[in-house]
Amino acid sequence: MRSFKQIITLAALGVASIGAVHASDFPAKDKSITFVVPFTAGGPTDRVARDLAEAMRKQLGGANIVVDNAAGAGGSIGANKVAKANADGYTLLVHHIGMATMPTLVRNIPFKVESDFEYLGMINDVPMTVISRPTLPANNYKELVGWVNQNKGKINLGNAGIGSASHLCGLLFQSALQVDMTAVPYKGTAPALADLIGGQIDLLCDQTTNTTAQIEGKKVKAFAVTTPKRLTTPALKDLPTLEESGLKNFQVTIFHGLYAPKGTPADVQKKLNDALKAALKDAEFVKKQEGLGAVVVSDRRTEPAEHRKFVAAEIAKWSPIIKAAGVYAD
Ligand code: ASP
Repeated sequence: MRSFKQIITLAALGVASIGAVHASDFPAKDKSITFVVPFTAGGPTDRVARDLAEAMRKQLGGANIVVDNAAGAGGSIGANKVAKANADGYTLLVHHIGMATMPTLVRNIPFKVESDFEYLGMINDVPMTVISRPTLPANNYKELVGWVNQNKGKINLGNAGIGSASHLCGLLFQSALQVDMTAVPYKGTAPALADLIGGQIDLLCDQTTNTTAQIEGKKVKAFAVTTPKRLTTPALKDLPTLEESGLKNFQVTIFHGLYAPKGTPADVQKKLNDALKAALKDAEFVKKQEGLGAVVVSDRRTEPAEHRKFVAAEIAKWSPIIKAAGVYAD
């Protein structure tokens, strides 16, 4: 006769084997995969995630992929949600440079970017743009600096919360110009951009994936790009770089990547990575991204180990810059 302890152990093993996810039946027909986006709908991270979901769906036998905008706290609410989710491949995180800058920029986050996630691969590189409300009386970067200097103490700068890319870019911009601005935090840059267009805030630094259409439609004024070289995207090609405008070493390029909770089965990770790599070659996805100034990754950073190395290098790169600029928050 089996002891009570043995029965409990066998029952636990049974549950474990029923609950185990294997790549052969992943993704199950009756289950949806959720892409957690740690910012609001309609913004740059959301746009990348929705386009990627469409492209990956084709690679995963038509699997249903839904987007959950778990926005707030500069991206840490959504990232934390995935760090604590079931490690079964059905809850994934689409995040950006915050994975690398948050540990320094925000010193108290409830998860560890290095050890709480499986890295599934990198998606794209995206430039940022410095933009203003349409009514701001400056028409080029030099005039913008003049206006900033004349309006010290009165300038509102939007961002997507402490730790976000717009927060980082805005802090570096203030530090470079040595002017303090009033931060206006949103849960993503979609609402920040709407308020910029409406004139409720003055300035924003945001990804081209959010700003290109508004720059093209003259809904906002654009002054510079944060990349080392000028861009080739038609609507953005005349914008100077911040470096050529006089802000030496001011380079911020945003990456997006795909992550799973730590402990996701290796074969499920591989299936997701294969689907990601195939999606990154999807002509429609690439065309959409390029039209918005983004560069879809086609190098080794699409491999989990290489992406992990890249993020570690980004942490090492940004940590001293953030510390030197004294721009971190608690
Ligand atoms: N662009 C935002 C940021 O500043 C996030 C977003 O809404 O996607 O991090």
